[in-house]
Amino acid sequence: MIPHAQNVDLSPIHAMFSKAQEAGLKKLAYRAEGLVLTLAKPHSTNPGAIYVTRKNGIYLGKVVGQQFVGYSATDADRAALQVIASDPAEAATRYGKMTRECSCCGRELSDPASVAAGIGPICATKWGL
Ligand SMILES: [Zn+2]
Repeated sequence: MIPHAQNVDLSPIHAMFSKAQEAGLKKLAYRAEGLVLTLAKPHSTNPGAIYVTRKNGIYLGKVVGQQFVGYSATDADRAALQVIASDPAEAATRYGKMTRECSCCGRELSDPASVAAGIGPICATKWGL
């Protein structure tokens, strides 16, 4: 039985988005565990919320504070979100190694050191991963 995402500390997800925002990045997106997380725009209806979609673009719900409001999320989606929340850096590295794409900017990882790290050096710094 997979526990509900509500019981998981989701603040590491907010923390990395805050850090990336403070670093001056726009259009924030983070990919891992088959999910894509994007930050709601400050003037949207959900400022500060983080939207969760599957990599194929299907919208699952949003992270608001400590709650994941998942409209159509399956247990597997919730579990994936928990894996990300428990260690966003590790999830990013796993994603990068598997896809050879940076978890944050989506660019191809070509530098051997970046491939080994599973994340580009600039994104790693800006996102605090
Ligand atoms: Zn990157």
